[in-house]
Amino acid sequence: MAHFAFVSAPASGHVNPTLPLVEELVRRGHRVSYATGPATMDGPVAAGASPVTLPSQLPPDMAARGEFTADQLAVTLEYYLDDARVSFPVLSEHFSADPPDAVCYDSVTFTGRMLANLLGVPEISLVPTFAENESFSAAQVYLPADFDHTNPRLVAAIQDMGKFAQGHTFLEDPNLMFGHVAPTSLVFIPREFQMSAETFDERFHFLGPSLSSRQTAEEWSPRSQAPVLLISLGTVFNDRPEFYRTCIEAFGDSDWQVVMAVGGLDRGSLGPIPANVEVRAHVPQVAVLRHTEVFLSHAGMNSVMESLYHGVPFVAVPQIPEQRAIARRAEELQVGRTLAEPTVQGLREAVRDVRSYRPRAAGMSRIVRGAGGASKGADVLEKLLTR
Ligand code: UDP
Repeated sequence: MAHFAFVSAPASGHVNPTLPLVEELVRRGHRVSYATGPATMDGPVAAGASPVTLPSQLPPDMAARGEFTADQLAVTLEYYLDDARVSFPVLSEHFSADPPDAVCYDSVTFTGRMLANLLGVPEISLVPTFAENESFSAAQVYLPADFDHTNPRLVAAIQDMGKFAQGHTFLEDPNLMFGHVAPTSLVFIPREFQMSAETFDERFHFLGPSLSSRQTAEEWSPRSQAPVLLISLGTVFNDRPEFYRTCIEAFGDSDWQVVMAVGGLDRGSLGPIPANVEVRAHVPQVAVLRHTEVFLSHAGMNSVMESLYHGVPFVAVPQIPEQRAIARRAEELQVGRTLAEPTVQGLREAVRDVRSYRPRAAGMSRIVRGAGGASKGADVLEKLLTR
């Protein structure tokens, strides 16, 4: 039986899609050691992994960093570099004493790649969103036309990263954040959802999403026979009281049964809540999706995959460039529609129109469920080690 090291930044959008794979590996008798920050360690431990706690935490002002301006990108690079300086020593010490047979790392958490190189074991990139290769760069899709590549802070951040990489000369390609294509990538979306899918060769295994046993076990029951409209902006860019108030105005006292997840904001700021609207900080999203007619979502990749898994079409209210790209792809596939400026009237029309996308969403559900999931991912990893 093998020992797998998993390494990820403490972001639920990156850790969550990997959990069914961890469960599957453990079920097959393998050992998984999962390295991430304390904020995201519950899931891996529940999935059966041994924790390797890193001193990693996401910046508290993450929600203010969504746009792809040069300054914000510089801050993100600085974060990952600062994190690598404190996390990599913990990783190398721990796994030198308890060596893994392979390192599976979140595609942007480059300390995992460094660890695989240091230990001389296979590296596997885990991709929770659109995959990238030599000819397709999702970042190019996200970057605004007026992006300032000469921004001094960005240039300095890239130089600092290069210097850090030089200090780890075991890396053949010192390009840490961008441009590296791993010999093996496990991608948690189906090939049919990937942009420029035809350019991805056999190094890329499109598994689609899988549900963890935690998600499968969650329960939620509708209060009535009325169609369910689920509203959520995810876990990061969700502090938008004016958006939730607009939703309440659009769908309060309507024929919809509205379930709205609003995160940690002060519920008092939403005004009176009509009887057909259920407001919660957090909902068991997968359980609610089993009963949902339409999802009004920020179009985070996990939410979109969970929605399509259940054959639920969605109206996207994207908050950041990556989500805009995901929403665009969903529009191309006619399983979702984007609403850039959510107004009362616009929301009502979009939600009504998108109901007619349900047959397409049902077709996509079959594709998503048939993509192979965690079981295919575990097959790929086992085969890699028997080569
Ligand atoms: N989620 C949930 N309940 C909530 C809000 C979010 O279970 O009330 C889960 C959701 O099912 C998904 C994840 O949190 O798995 C959100 O990930 P996504 O990529 O959609 O967005 P992010 O939060 O990273 O912006």
